Amino acid sequence: MSEQNFDLVVLGAGSGGYAAALRASQLGLTVGLIEKGKVGGTCLHVGCIPTKALLHAAEVADVTRESAKYGVSATFGGIDIAGVTTYREEVVASKWKGLQGLIKARGITTIEGEGRLTSPTSVQVGDVTVTGKNVILATGSYSRSLPGLEIGGRVITSEQALALDFVPKKVAVLGGGVIGVEFSSVWRSFGTEVTIIEALPNLVPNEDIAISKAFERAFRKRGIEFKTGVRFAGVTQNESGVVVSLENGETVEAELLLVAVGRGPATANLGFEEVGVTMDRGFVLTDERLRTNIPGVWAVGDIVPGLQLAHRGFQQGIFVAEEIAGLNPIVVDDVNIPKVTYSDPEVASIGLTEAKAVEKFGADAIATYDYNLAGNGKSHIIGTSGNVKVVRQKDGPVLGVHMIGARVGELIGEAQLAVNWEAYPEDIAPYIHAHPTQNEALGEAFLAIAGKPLHG
Ligand code: FAD
Repeated sequence: MSEQNFDLVVLGAGSGGYAAALRASQLGLTVGLIEKGKVGGTCLHVGCIPTKALLHAAEVADVTRESAKYGVSATFGGIDIAGVTTYREEVVASKWKGLQGLIKARGITTIEGEGRLTSPTSVQVGDVTVTGKNVILATGSYSRSLPGLEIGGRVITSEQALALDFVPKKVAVLGGGVIGVEFSSVWRSFGTEVTIIEALPNLVPNEDIAISKAFERAFRKRGIEFKTGVRFAGVTQNESGVVVSLENGETVEAELLLVAVGRGPATANLGFEEVGVTMDRGFVLTDERLRTNIPGVWAVGDIVPGLQLAHRGFQQGIFVAEEIAGLNPIVVDDVNIPKVTYSDPEVASIGLTEAKAVEKFGADAIATYDYNLAGNGKSHIIGTSGNVKVVRQKDGPVLGVHMIGARVGELIGEAQLAVNWEAYPEDIAPYIHAHPTQNEALGEAFLAIAGKPLHG
C-alpha cells in the first residue's frame, strides 16, 4: 500500500478530466490524473476524432465519384478499408501522442488503473491511495442499449462499428440521432445500403424541425432509407445477418444492427453513492458551479446531466480547475452549446429552435429568416445546397441559428458568438464577411433579418 498526495485528483482522463488537469497544472496546482484506459478518453479514441476521420474518408470517396463534374479525371476504385483504418489510426495516434506529451510537460502525474472513490478526498487505484484536497469525477459514458436488446454478434455499438475490418453490404441503424446518422452517412458513401429506425417523428430530432426535414430530404436523395415514428420490437440473428422487427409489424433485414440510442453515465460501482454523492439514474448531480453535494467533490463531462459533447466537457473541466484555484470564473452556459452533426449534409446549430423560441416568448415576439445557400457563391463552388435559419426576438437579440449543408459546422463559431453575446442582428449586419466564403451566408441572413436583405 502506498499513498500519493495532490492538490487535485481527477478520476478519468477524457475531454472533461484532462482539460481540468491541464488547466489546474497551469494554475500551479499539483494534479494526479487517474485513467484506466488511454488519456483522451472516448472522444479521442472511439468518438469524435476517429468518426470524423471516417467521415472525411467518405467525403473523399464522394468527391472522387463526382470528380468529372469539376473537370477532373479520377476513377473511384472502391474503398480499401485497411487503408481507411490506417489513416484513422494515424490521426488518433498522433493526437494521442501530442496529448501524452502535453500532460507530461505540464508536470501532471498520470496514475494508470481503475479508480474507486473511497472518501471525499481519496481514490483507491489498486494498492495506491491517491488523495487530494479536491476530487473531480470525470468517468464519462458508455453506449446504451434498449431493455432486452443485447449487444453481441451482429448487434454492435459505435465502438465496434468503428473497428469493422470490412464494408458491410446492408446495415440497420437503431437511432436517428447524431451517432446513428454519422455512421449511416459514412456507410452510404462506402456503398452500403442503410436503413435507420427512429422512434421519434424525425431524424436528428433535437434540431429545428425545418432542418430535420431538409436533412431527411437530403438523406433520401442519397438513397439512405429511414423509418421514423416507429419503435423497435426485437431482433433475431442468424449466420448471415439480423432481422429487426418493429412494433408496426414491419421487419428490416441487414448484415448488422448498429445500436445508437444514446449514452449512459459510466458511474456504476465506483464508490460514488457510498461516499454520499447525490446521483440520479446514474448521473452525478451538481449545481451550476459543478459542485456535487459533497464539498470538494466536483463532476464534469458526460456524467453530468445535459448534452454529452466533448467541448462541453472541456469547458466544464477548465471552469472547475479555475474555480478550485480561486479565479471565480464565469459559469459555463449549459443551454447555448454549439452542436454539429458531421454527416453529409452537415447540421450545425446553437440556441433556441423556432418552436422553443415560440414556446418561450410567444409567436408574435419571434421573427425568423431562412437564407438559401443557393444564393451563396462559395456553396455553389463546392457544390452544396442547404439553409441558414436565424431565429430572433423581434426588436431583440439572435436567439438561435440553425444550418444545414456541406461544411456548415465551420460557421458555428460566429453563430455562437451572436447567440452567447445576445447580439442584435442590426449590430452584426454591418460587419464585413469575406467573399466568397460560406460565412457570407450567415452575414446575409443577419442582414436580412435586420430588415436589409441584399441578395435574399
Ligand atoms: P470520456 O471521454 O468518456 O472519458 C472518461 C474517461 O474516464 C475514459 O478515458 C475512461 O477510461 C476513464 N474512466 C472511467 N472510469 C474510470 C475509473 N473508474 N478509473 C479510471 N478511469 C476511468 N462529442 C463532440 O463534441 N463532437 C463529436 O463529434 C463527437 N462525436 C462522437 C462520436 C461517437 C461515436 C461517440 C461515442 C461520442 C462522440 N462525442 C462527440 C461525445 C464525446 O466523445 C463525449 O462527450 C466526451 O468524450 C465526454 O468526455 P468525458 O470526459 O465526460 O468522458
